[in-house]
Amino acid sequence: MKAAVLREFGKPLVIEDIQIDAPKAGEVKIKLSACAICHSDIIAMSGAWGGSLPTVYGHEAAGVVTEVGAGVTKVQAGDPVVVTLLRSCGTCFYCAQGQPHICEGDFPLYHETRLHDAAGNAVNQGIKVAGFAEYAVVEQSQIVKISDNVPMESASLLACGVITGLGAVVNTADIKPNSSVAVIGCGGVGLNSIQGAHLAGAQPLIGIDLLDNKLAAAKEFGATHTINPSTADVVEGVKALTSGRGADYVFVAVGSTKAMEQGLQLIRPGGSLVLVGMTASGQTMSFEPVNFSFYSQHIMGSNMGSTRLNIDIPKLVELYEEGRLKLDELITKRYKLEDINEAIEAVENGEALRNVIVFD
Ligand SMILES: [Zn+2]
Ligand SMILES: [Zn+2]
Repeated sequence: MKAAVLREFGKPLVIEDIQIDAPKAGEVKIKLSACAICHSDIIAMSGAWGGSLPTVYGHEAAGVVTEVGAGVTKVQAGDPVVVTLLRSCGTCFYCAQGQPHICEGDFPLYHETRLHDAAGNAVNQGIKVAGFAEYAVVEQSQIVKISDNVPMESASLLACGVITGLGAVVNTADIKPNSSVAVIGCGGVGLNSIQGAHLAGAQPLIGIDLLDNKLAAAKEFGATHTINPSTADVVEGVKALTSGRGADYVFVAVGSTKAMEQGLQLIRPGGSLVLVGMTASGQTMSFEPVNFSFYSQHIMGSNMGSTRLNIDIPKLVELYEEGRLKLDELITKRYKLEDINEAIEAVENGEALRNVIVFD
């Protein structure tokens, strides 16, 4: 099969002919229809999170099951599925209390790969999926069957950007109606925090981004106000919209420590800062703890929107079918696998909400 392989960090991907094994027990093979490009792929491909190469990245995917391994009963060949990086055992300490996104279970796929290059050498499955390829083999917990009503490119976005952004608001922070909310970063993840906050009844709902095209999208996704820090004072702007106090919740949907520090300036006494974006390993942020304790503020991290796939994905599909969840509007452009480096460059330049690789 064709796959986009990274052989050197920071270098372009190379399209190669890669061998993919049959699924082993508990695993599923999927013919991918679409795989979106997420900022996490770009950070990983820069080498900022370490790891070894060669690797196939891509983790925001959807496709059709072609083969199931022994013991798999949740899907069969022909089922359309969302393919995610969320791998969970269902029985460990975390899974047992409804936190499968931080599952501590062990799986053969943590130690083995199902991909090999033409010379027979192992190729890693990056970010647990390896979605920049025509087929993927993943653990069965990573997929959710969906209805035929969702176009595959839209469905792929459910695998990461949508659940990460929206889940941070409705699962991790679990905001109340009428909460004042600001979202820093209005890309593929932040827009979903905005639409999650909109669905949850946030008021006001403030989108913050340096790019005017993203602020325009923020309005479409439910923001009541937008602020561009390059032309306006963000702290003053948010205070002016929140009776001078600051926001109940600030979601930081970019992997920037500067944005996270800025976020702390925007929460009210008793308010919460929710860190959604992932920074490079080793980066640190600083803040004045005396203010933080004096004003009883909170910081929380949100990994993958605290998503429980089998509960959240079907609900999101229902919302999409009712016209209440925007997915199609998140897609900026569709690319063939051969043009993946161009698709990645457009994401890096801030031109895209989500660029999606589509397969024949
Ligand atoms: Zn588990
Ligand atoms: Zn992602």
